[in-house]
Amino acid sequence: MYVLHVAFECAPIAKVGGLGDVLGALPKFLRRAGIEAAVLMPRFGDAQVKAEALQLVHEGTLTYRDRKLPYRLWLQEAEILGFPVYLLEEPMHFGRPGVYQDPRTGLDFPDQGDRFFVFQRGVLEVLKAGVLTPDLLHLHDHHTALLAVWLREDPLYQDWAEMPIVFTVHNAEHQGRYDWSVWEAIGVPVAHPEDLQHQGQLNALKAGLIWADAVTTVSPGYARELQERNDIAAGLQEVFQRVAPKMQGILNGIDPELWNPATDPLIFANYSVDDLSGKEKNKVALCKALGLRPDRPLLVFIGRLVQEKGIDLLVAGLEQLLTHQLDVSVVVLGTGRPAYQAALEDLRCRMVRPGGFPRLALRFEFNNTLAHQLYAAGDMLLMPSRVEPCGLNQMYAMTYGTVPIVHAVGGLRDTVEPWEPHAQQGTGFRFETFTPRAFHQAIRRALTVYYRPEQWRVLQRNGMRQDWSWSRSAQKYLELYRSLVPVTS
Ligand code: ADP
Repeated sequence: MYVLHVAFECAPIAKVGGLGDVLGALPKFLRRAGIEAAVLMPRFGDAQVKAEALQLVHEGTLTYRDRKLPYRLWLQEAEILGFPVYLLEEPMHFGRPGVYQDPRTGLDFPDQGDRFFVFQRGVLEVLKAGVLTPDLLHLHDHHTALLAVWLREDPLYQDWAEMPIVFTVHNAEHQGRYDWSVWEAIGVPVAHPEDLQHQGQLNALKAGLIWADAVTTVSPGYARELQERNDIAAGLQEVFQRVAPKMQGILNGIDPELWNPATDPLIFANYSVDDLSGKEKNKVALCKALGLRPDRPLLVFIGRLVQEKGIDLLVAGLEQLLTHQLDVSVVVLGTGRPAYQAALEDLRCRMVRPGGFPRLALRFEFNNTLAHQLYAAGDMLLMPSRVEPCGLNQMYAMTYGTVPIVHAVGGLRDTVEPWEPHAQQGTGFRFETFTPRAFHQAIRRALTVYYRPEQWRVLQRNGMRQDWSWSRSAQKYLELYRSLVPVTS
């Protein structure tokens, strides 16, 4: 069986968040489980690939609106990432750096929609040309969701009309909403246009949900929430309920070849569950590098500075630590909304200790090495997400012996078990209500245990012993694919 993943991100070639991590790992584990799997993605101007290692496999022309756009398809061989990656090069839309945003301005590309549509038209051309011959297409997020409609509804692609399609929702906040006239200009007529629309607009996510043969999302908890809570489903709750019979949540995994404190080349000192002494060295080295005191609990946040990630709560929770004079060191690594950066900057000025020692270090950048170093150095990871489809950070944190403090939502509820001192069980701290008070109390509970080093070690080790490897999740995808692909292939 040959499964082709079609997506806009694939780490390390192009990564903005968890989507990139998933595409960079799942295909490798599927191949280990015995099937053929590859990724097809755009070739961005700043793609992390070695041009001399790419092989040209196809050249063609795609049509978008009334334009003919030449494209090339490149192959990065399986040896490099553990699976083949096909990169679609079309210079006008993808020749510049950036996946969704212009790195110079931090703003979405003005032609973002065109980029998604052009890529999908390119994928259709590649399939039609017979260059890639998958048995099943696995689409990821709204960026690629309309492929399901074209393949099923456009007579031009009738050879592919029977090909099973899986659609994975990594984040329902982003839906790909466009004026309906866009579909009239670039799409195909369908019997029930309302299935492509939400509130009168073309909605790519909804289309993917309805046209795919099977829908998955990235944790069982999020799958439930999408069907139960319209705020989490960002207005599409009814659609998620409608597709419930063909939908399931499969928890993301992490790649132990990249995320393992015993072998990680990016951290200051390696360590393992049997000998945690190296973790302290990481803390000391990182605190020194950032000008923080290492003899205090180190709390870290890593992630996009957007509403979904609960940055308002992060600021309010840290504010309360300050009010209650709890002495901690904090690092925030992230990029995102300027207003959140300003609020954090303001807090940093107020979190200075007597004598001028900073308590809060801020890094407004995307820095993978620093992320690894923070997972290794931190005592606690703060994750007050308002919504969290799966969340990878808490899994990385636990693997590195950093105790997560999380809002009990989506994949965070599925992966972080509350600490039970009597049973000595649990892997972190959860808070149920999305309020600064509840968040602050969770941090205080964590600090209480932190000051009992023997208990803290048990808690850290409980987290480090969890198995978040992709092998288990890959098996679940495999079962799903097998249920969809006819036995003969
Ligand atoms: P999301 O996909 O919603 O952003 P996830 O928790 O699923 O959130 O995945 C986030 C991924 O991106 C993790 O691998 C995290 O370490 C990484 N990440 C987020 N922000 C940064 C940053 N500023 N620098 C380095 N890595 C980051």
